[in-house]
Amino acid sequence: MAKPTTQTDGAARAAVVSAEGSDFLEPLPRLTKKVFTDLAIWMTGLGLLMGVVFPFFVMAFGVPSTYVLSAKFFSATIGAGLVVGATNHFLSRAVVGSRLRFMSSKMSRVESILRDAVLADDKEECTPENCMITVDSNDELGDAAASFNQLVEALAESQRASRVAGNFATTLASHIELTPLVDAALNVLQGAGHLSASALCVLRDGELATVSSAGIAEPDGLAQSELVQRCYRTLDMVKIELPSDIQLDGGIVKFRPRTVVAFPLHVRLVPIGVVVLASTMPIDDRHDVLIQQLLPNFAVALNNALSHERLQRVAAIDTLTGLYNRRFGLERLSQEFSRSVRSGEPLGIILFDIDHFKSVNDTYGHQVGDDVLKLIAENAKGVLREGDTLMRYGGEEFLAVLPGAGEADLRTVGERMRRIVESSVVFESTAEVRVTISLGGVSFPSADVVDLDDLIRKADAALYSAKTAGRNRLALVEA
Ligand code: GH3
Ligand code: MG
Ligand code: MG
Repeated sequence: MAKPTTQTDGAARAAVVSAEGSDFLEPLPRLTKKVFTDLAIWMTGLGLLMGVVFPFFVMAFGVPSTYVLSAKFFSATIGAGLVVGATNHFLSRAVVGSRLRFMSSKMSRVESILRDAVLADDKEECTPENCMITVDSNDELGDAAASFNQLVEALAESQRASRVAGNFATTLASHIELTPLVDAALNVLQGAGHLSASALCVLRDGELATVSSAGIAEPDGLAQSELVQRCYRTLDMVKIELPSDIQLDGGIVKFRPRTVVAFPLHVRLVPIGVVVLASTMPIDDRHDVLIQQLLPNFAVALNNALSHERLQRVAAIDTLTGLYNRRFGLERLSQEFSRSVRSGEPLGIILFDIDHFKSVNDTYGHQVGDDVLKLIAENAKGVLREGDTLMRYGGEEFLAVLPGAGEADLRTVGERMRRIVESSVVFESTAEVRVTISLGGVSFPSADVVDLDDLIRKADAALYSAKTAGRNRLALVEA
């Protein structure tokens, strides 16, 4: 069976040989050559015919046959007929041929651009300048040029769509964390449609929430909007086209949109989110189709990122208190300590432990003990600033990491925590349960700390001294 031929010449490469071995698609230069060969034969034949017929023709007008039917006259008329035929042939070659050759060179250009687009990273695009033909006549050649331009446009569009799909697939494959994945994916979608705003709402903890947005007026409220809710419920694309003379009040986007579209994201018909895209121009159906083709892969990648996030959370969070667990919390502490060593900024930590907690369990039961742990975790966390971390360090021991905190800050925060715990109450059926905590704090680099282990050891020693000094107090490692 014959295989498709591949030759080095750009135009000839387009030849595809069919299974029977005959040409199925022929390149234009070869077709052009055939046409001109046929034309030459026809013109020469016509010239010959005219030369042969012409003597009889003039006889009909009364020219004497003795004069006309001579070898000399015949030779002269045949010669003249051949000259006219040849002249016609060369004129048509000059006029039509130059235009066909131009069209052929453009076709070769398009063909090589398309071929390179598949093979090379550095992809050249078909533009009106490098691929299209000026339509400058109303005849068949003009029609051919117009059809050719439409073909180039369709090819360029499909080339662009496959490039966007390729970019999108690479983007999805290179992120597993939710936020970077969504930001990068929205960026590609927005760029693909020359859009002005984009957002993604996903189902998190049982509620739709906006996780990323660009150009959206009120991203937090977007998830509750009728547009997003309807799209999420029906799993159908919802498109709103606004006439250009309508002004939106309290609109979804920061600019005056012409089109807002919500696309559902689902995995096997289970909804997981909604992509919202908006544009100052009408978004045409081809973009809708392109985006819809990209969304199934996005939904799968998003689902993976959400699962990853849930796993991360499960691995990092203590289930009873909702605080970071010891493993994850110590990782954070280690990062903060390295940062503090590099920057010279202080880093404070406070380790605290519930006083006589065993007796709470013994008196009221383990469940009440758990309630006390939850309340203390919540109240102590409420005292901290943004950027501080509170972890459950052990059974009834907690560690607060306070970036930027010097000794005076530790004193303030530690005292606040001590007081808020002291005034917290867990109501048990017959009694009010109150506990106190003892705290030990240390700040790097003011205290003489050699490394991270030493930092924790010193906080532990300070806590021990708070316990031995009578509990319900804060002890700090002095500089
Ligand atoms: P101290 O003032 O010296 O710290 O006395 P303490 O009783 O608090 O210290 P101890 O180490 O003797 O007891 C700690 C208790 O904390 C024992 C343990 O049962 C309890 N505990 C640890 N984790 C949990 C938990 O998750 N839930 C409950 N209810 N109790 C816990
Ligand atoms: Mg204790
Ligand atoms: Mg303890």
